[in-house]
Amino acid sequence: MPEGDALHRAARSLQPLVGERLEVETPHPRARVTGVAERLDGKRLLRVEAVGKNLLLRFEGGLVLRSHLRMRGRWQVLQRNGARRGTPWLVLRGAKNEAVLWNGPVLELDESHVRSLGPDILADPPDLDAILAKLRGADQRSAIGVALLDQRLVAGIGNLWRAEALWRARISPWRLLGDLQDDELRTTLGEAARLMRGSLDSGLKVRAVYRKAGRPCPRCGTPIESRGQGEANRIAYWCPDCQEGEPAGAL
Ligand SMILES: [Zn+2]
Repeated sequence: MPEGDALHRAARSLQPLVGERLEVETPHPRARVTGVAERLDGKRLLRVEAVGKNLLLRFEGGLVLRSHLRMRGRWQVLQRNGARRGTPWLVLRGAKNEAVLWNGPVLELDESHVRSLGPDILADPPDLDAILAKLRGADQRSAIGVALLDQRLVAGIGNLWRAEALWRARISPWRLLGDLQDDELRTTLGEAARLMRGSLDSGLKVRAVYRKAGRPCPRCGTPIESRGQGEANRIAYWCPDCQEGEPAGAL
């Protein structure tokens, strides 16, 4: 699933279209019914920004288009009228370039969803105090691994970066918020921000534990464990030796 770093990278790639009046098409039938093309066609694009895992495109007239990629969506910037196969959800066509959205199941002219998001982990600099306050305002019986994926508490972190940040901070995903010190939470958030910023700038995703179940921990050699966590049952990956804290008892 695209996480915050992929969305911030998409926002960068769309910058050449900012300032232009765009031809807007929604070729995919499920996108056509949103009415987005009729509302935006011919409007000037004022700004593109990533907020957590969302991309917000601000057009003149106060119109804001929100795109969320869910599992398989992706943005591509091509030359105007370049060759492509398949039926994209959205095409934003400028004088020289066009941005194409594939498999973008969330496409709406409404930013109310974004107002409920927690602070963006990829803000520059990230507001770790504000995120810490959000985590402390949540149910303290929640496991840290579950809380990090709750976009209302901190926006942008997905399954990959939660696993990697917790491993670097030596915190088990199963430990409860109420059992963690502020500096432990701050270290975890700082690692997430640093890793994701590095990925955004380099395009590289260096992985120690994510999808490495059974492989040796790069730090101590103990086999990495994995197990579904939380209501959404997203798979957590951790080293049982470096990251002490058992699955039992966590929400
Ligand atoms: Zn280890």
